[in-house]
Amino acid sequence: MSKKIVIIGGGIAGLGIANTLVEKVKDKAEIAVINKEDFYFAGPSRPLLLTNEQEYGRIIRGYEMVGKKGINVKVGNVYKIDPENRRVYLSESSMGIKNEPITYDYLVLAPGIVFDGSSINGYEKYWYKNTTVYDLGRVNVLKNRLWNENEGSIVVYAPKAPYRCAPAPTETVLLAHTVLTHRKVREKFKIIHIDANDKTQPPFIADIVKEIYDKAGIQLVTGQEIIEIGDDYVVTKSGEKYKFTILTLLEPNRAPRFVEEAGLGSPFVEIRSPLDLRHPKYDDILAAGDAAKLPFPKNQEIAFESSLFAANKILEMEGISESVPVQYAFVGWAYMGNLEGKLETISLQLQMDLTVQPPKPAKDPQLKRDYTLQKDRWEQAYLGRLFGYS
Ligand SMILES: Cc1cc2nc3c(=O)[nH]c(=O)nc-3n(C[C@H](O)[C@H](O)[C@H](O)COP(=O)(O)OP(=O)(O)OC[C@H]3O[C@@H](n4cnc5c(N)ncnc54)[C@H](O)[C@@H]3O)c2cc1C
Repeated sequence: MSKKIVIIGGGIAGLGIANTLVEKVKDKAEIAVINKEDFYFAGPSRPLLLTNEQEYGRIIRGYEMVGKKGINVKVGNVYKIDPENRRVYLSESSMGIKNEPITYDYLVLAPGIVFDGSSINGYEKYWYKNTTVYDLGRVNVLKNRLWNENEGSIVVYAPKAPYRCAPAPTETVLLAHTVLTHRKVREKFKIIHIDANDKTQPPFIADIVKEIYDKAGIQLVTGQEIIEIGDDYVVTKSGEKYKFTILTLLEPNRAPRFVEEAGLGSPFVEIRSPLDLRHPKYDDILAAGDAAKLPFPKNQEIAFESSLFAANKILEMEGISESVPVQYAFVGWAYMGNLEGKLETISLQLQMDLTVQPPKPAKDPQLKRDYTLQKDRWEQAYLGRLFGYS
């Protein structure tokens, strides 16, 4: 094998594949990872930036050690791929490097998702009103507002599933409640969670979330899509208008536009099956992580597991019998804040076995402080493993 494997996305799935392949075929293949930034910002504990329980520095990693392993990391935004001619086009990098089109023998699509508010009237004009834990910069805007404003109305919105990290809108609600309670201004704020789904996500913890919301005085509106944003209000499909001073809306998720433009799927990349992540039309194009059209929740464990399935498929196609053991299952922790306003978040543990049909969810109804700490250790372990340093 002397092949060029190009991976779009240097996140959880992209580095899962790159690290696996570099160990197995280092001298026989060139492995390139393209990432639009020259750093990576992890997702799971981002919401804890709001309560000062997490720091930016602990969840940002660079690619120094990845490069040292022999993985060729390129910085640039992929804006076009040409599957017929096996070419990937990327923009000038932030370091001013003019990137030439890249050719490949195998292409893996692992760019995660983009937040697409284009279906919401007024979004183009008022997007800047929105703050969200999902975005690296806007989470800090949200944090500053929660710590500095003294009254108002917070609207948190979850779009129709699937979207990245099912409980994150609920986490946003409860961490906002925690900060405002801590600051002793909670009674001056209304907090409204509007959810486009029939239940808060994931549905199998919705009963516990509802109980906590009732205790915390949070208004929950389910089964309502937001279809319009104005200067200080949103409107749902049923015509209901909600005023906000702080809006934290998660836009519907989809794979980056170049996927659809190359005819590879919409809103996510088509795959043959969760075990065979090749595109139905192309043997040499695979997908992994949140960008792939997997029938599973979009989270870090699934992203990583799908990356191992994708790596195994490439090894199999190259006639290399070594594969890495993997199956679909996840354990996760949802931050439930702290109702008394202590800046010590407690969490709920949830898990799902996806090797059985129907998938088997489970949860520990007992919320624990230790689960928050466990989630931190889990996230740090992933970052250490993928980026080569803690
Ligand atoms: C706020 C938040 C909370 C979360 N909480 C949890 C949790 O509690 N538990 C859990 O399991 N998961 C959680 N997740 C989800 C988890 O982070 C994602 O599911 C996981 O990162 C998906 O991996 P990925 O490789 O598909 O995408 P990512 O890890 O996002 O990596 C994609 C990479 O591709 C790059 N990229 C994107 N577009 C391009 C392009 N056009 N050209 C070049 N590079 C590109 C990006 O810059 C990024 O580095 C959370 C995510 C967020 C944001």
